Amino acid sequence: MGAIRIKGLEVFGHHGIFKEENMLGQKFIVDADLHLDVRKAAKKDEITESVHYGEICDFICEFMQKNTFKLLETVADKLAAALLMEYDLLWWVDLEVKKPFAPIPHSFDTISVRANRRWHKCYIALGSNMGDRENYLNDAIARMEGNSYCRVGKVSDFFNTKPEGPVEQEDFLNGCIELTTMYDPYELLHFMHKLENEAKRERKIFWGPRTLDLDILFYDNNVQADDRLILPHPRMHKRAFVLDPMMQIAPYAVHPVYHKTIEDLYHELPESAHYQPAESEDEE
Ligand code: ATP
Ligand code: CA
Ligand code: CA
Repeated sequence: MGAIRIKGLEVFGHHGIFKEENMLGQKFIVDADLHLDVRKAAKKDEITESVHYGEICDFICEFMQKNTFKLLETVADKLAAALLMEYDLLWWVDLEVKKPFAPIPHSFDTISVRANRRWHKCYIALGSNMGDRENYLNDAIARMEGNSYCRVGKVSDFFNTKPEGPVEQEDFLNGCIELTTMYDPYELLHFMHKLENEAKRERKIFWGPRTLDLDILFYDNNVQADDRLILPHPRMHKRAFVLDPMMQIAPYAVHPVYHKTIEDLYHELPESAHYQPAESEDEE
């Protein structure tokens, strides 16, 4: 891949926790590694295949001048995210913001904070079995599209599926989407919970009826588990209502624990377990 490296870019800004810092301002220095596909640009020798480092320097200076944050952590993290949002060719930004004149009574070269953000490829399962199910799913997708930390990729058909588990309840509408996101796994889970809450989901009965359920199936190739988040989703590989829509959008995605493709997992279920895409409810 490769990267463009900017070192020692000087910017005058007003960030800091003291009022004087916000009023008077001071010098900041930015170092940035901007990861992109350098080979693509090299092959054509065209700037359209790369990002112009002059423009990036202008962008960084403008961002740091027009915003005022208390913490260097915020400056660095928000700047990394803003660069990824602005320049489509970048997939990973790693930067350091230095404050050479930080107001503390010690002798030092610089105080600095490093931050990085990058795009991660995820798959999300969506489900609903209350009210206007199709609208709940479409609305959740639209809200993900409207979030600048997320980009929605492929979207499966929606499938009408039978509820599983001990609770008697209405049929579900299920689908899956490909989501590219700058969020880390817990930030993404938090965002999914926010969307569920906005759909007025109530958690009364475990595995009970819900307006909206958003499960993170894969997050890159992450394998992790704690009491908040398990990746990949621990039950996805056994569920036709997940594998059927996933088969449409990512048959070659490999499960990082079982080392099997979605297609393999799909064929491991009995044929009778599978569903057909639902007719759009608007057309019924
Ligand atoms: P299931 O997980 O079997 O599909 P469910 O979706 O009905 O069941 P919820 O009540 O929606 O379960 O979620 C319970 C908790 O599961 C969430 O609060 C969340 O912290 C946790 N969780 C763990 N791993 C994941 C994941 N990969 N995606 C979403 N939530 C997860
Ligand atoms: Ca679920
Ligand atoms: Ca869930």
